[in-house]
Amino acid sequence: MILAGRWENPEPQTEIVNGKEIITTESVLLCRAGGMEIQAANSGQKFGKKLAEQINLKLAMDVKYPGLYDLLTDPYGSLYLNEGMYEKALAFLADRITDKGDIFLPAVFDGNDLENEMVRLALGRLMPRCDISTYDRFINGLEDTGLLTGMNEEEGWDVHYLNDEMMEMLRKDCETTNERVQTDPTIRWQEENRVFTSSMSDAMTQLSKAVVMYLASQSQPAEKTGENPLKKLKEKVEDQFKKREQGRNASAAKIGSTGQAVQNYTKEDIITALDGVTEKSSEIADALRKKEIGINVIGDELFERYHGCGSDTVAIQVNEQIYVRNSSVSLLSDVVHEGTHALDYYNGISQKVISSWTGETAAYSAERLFQLKSGGKVEFATEEDMMVHIWQNYSRR
Ligand SMILES: [Zn+2]
Repeated sequence: MILAGRWENPEPQTEIVNGKEIITTESVLLCRAGGMEIQAANSGQKFGKKLAEQINLKLAMDVKYPGLYDLLTDPYGSLYLNEGMYEKALAFLADRITDKGDIFLPAVFDGNDLENEMVRLALGRLMPRCDISTYDRFINGLEDTGLLTGMNEEEGWDVHYLNDEMMEMLRKDCETTNERVQTDPTIRWQEENRVFTSSMSDAMTQLSKAVVMYLASQSQPAEKTGENPLKKLKEKVEDQFKKREQGRNASAAKIGSTGQAVQNYTKEDIITALDGVTEKSSEIADALRKKEIGINVIGDELFERYHGCGSDTVAIQVNEQIYVRNSSVSLLSDVVHEGTHALDYYNGISQKVISSWTGETAAYSAERLFQLKSGGKVEFATEEDMMVHIWQNYSRR
């Protein structure tokens, strides 16, 4: 296929970068030979909506972790065969934690955030034995790595979170991997012949190609002025970085906790909020702390896709895991409800009983008491209303 030299925008675009219209998902690249259209990203893919976002991410990464973006979007890009690159990938991950706090790993699989997508790609390259094509496989790989490095025993290590302890595990594991790639010819051969295409979503692949083409088209000096517009843009990004770094040193605590429109509970926030309100909520907080039960705060889209449920399912307990929506206005009392189920499960009560009138009455009562004691919104005005809801919506046994 012969690609046209430039992108065409069928509609005028409002997004301007560098004084020029930028290509968006609406843009098409015409193939000269067949007249076939290649779209920058599938429409409907939320994260693909702004190519500008992607370009800015690349420029920002190029400043701080030179070469990393290109390597992660290259299907043959190995972090271990290019000197200094796995350390850069680790630094990129560590900086994400510094910026945003602990990263809930299922969120990096929802494909809606470009930076998260980069986190996922970096994790896949850093741990060649980890399959990052699905969340389940990835978690299995992480569990194995936790076991192999002994980090699973460590306080604070949680297979669902990219946090300081997980970073410690990665550093250990990556050092071992690097050592083996450098010294063991078989391992090296594997790394040399590894293809990472399957780890990138289609939309991401198309976007990253679009970025490369866009930047290539921009890298020639503008004819009239002789200036290189890309260089200016790069300088601007570098400037922003310097300012941010200075700001961080002055007021470390402020960064990461401001400007977030949606609620962003960490596991610690939830434990703190539950502790001491009711007997049950304290018990749940304690079990979360001891990792007897687990908590997963996820976005609506991922929640529904992962559990195959509709928008009317507020929260779910699966074995000793609690799943709640980060958009839920009753997030904390949801955790009390599902936490009651998860504790029942942990204590050997059968799932059948947990999902019956008996288990649900326990969960709804604990939730209602928590709502009353914490001064939150009370879902059912009376206990009778609550029981009617249970009788109507759940099976007797
Ligand atoms: Zn329930």
